[in-house]
Amino acid sequence: MKLILLGPPGAGKGTQAKILEDRYGIAQISTGDMLRAEVKAGTEIGLQARAVMESGALVSDDIIIRMLANRISQADCVKGFILDGFPRTVPQARALDAMLESKGVQLDAVIELKVDDALLVERIAGRFTCAKCGAGYHDVFHPTGVAGVCDKCGSTEFIRRADDKRETVAARLAAYHEQTAPILPHYAALGRLQTVDGMADMGEVTRQLVALLEPVS
Ligand code: ADP
Ligand code: ADP
Ligand code: ZN
Repeated sequence: MKLILLGPPGAGKGTQAKILEDRYGIAQISTGDMLRAEVKAGTEIGLQARAVMESGALVSDDIIIRMLANRISQADCVKGFILDGFPRTVPQARALDAMLESKGVQLDAVIELKVDDALLVERIAGRFTCAKCGAGYHDVFHPTGVAGVCDKCGSTEFIRRADDKRETVAARLAAYHEQTAPILPHYAALGRLQTVDGMADMGEVTRQLVALLEPVS
């Protein structure tokens, strides 16, 4: 199964992509996670991307398209993949169309998670992840079972992203509305776009996604 999850920062793309990854045994490809790994490793891409990411703006299409093309060519993507956070601009969407066409690969679904801006601010401000296993949590909406201990691996260390500060969220939402939302009509025009209510609770969002995906899997 090959699908794109679209939606603003904090919509729940990563949360749902991890659930679908386990359910269908396909690779979650998060360009945000890939960029954070480059920053951590201090690579040339990481050095270029760091300040841009912290400002809430988008990293250049050039860098992103090259990174994604490499990733999608790897063996684990043959079975399927979930694109989470890519494409994010019209040029990225066009580059993806060309990449898939040249490989003779068809997308099974393009799904938008729709969430109002006011709720996104709350989602992003409360987000944290386990430093060891990457499990995602939220201060209010999805706390750990035992305070300060990861449900999945028992680690007591957690990470909050530098760009998840309230001050940066407005810039990220503006980037979404100006640069990313225009790709929705791109997929709608191809007859591919489906929408799920991302304001619902996590389990309900998963149920809605599965209802769309099972007929095509
Ligand atoms: P994205 O990958 O789209 O930026 P995340 O999956 O990281 O979004 O979700 C943002 C935050 O909101 C996380 O802290 C996550 O635990 C929480 N979250 C995700 N989906 C829901 C939901 N349906 N209801 C409430 N909180 C959610
Ligand atoms: P979120 O889903 O919360 O917006 P991501 O982890 O997807 O966060 O992205 C974090 C940051 O990484 C973005 O604000 C942007 O600077 C950069 N980034 C990630 N994916 C892309 C992309 N496809 N194009 C441009 N920049 C990207
Ligand atoms: Zn953990």
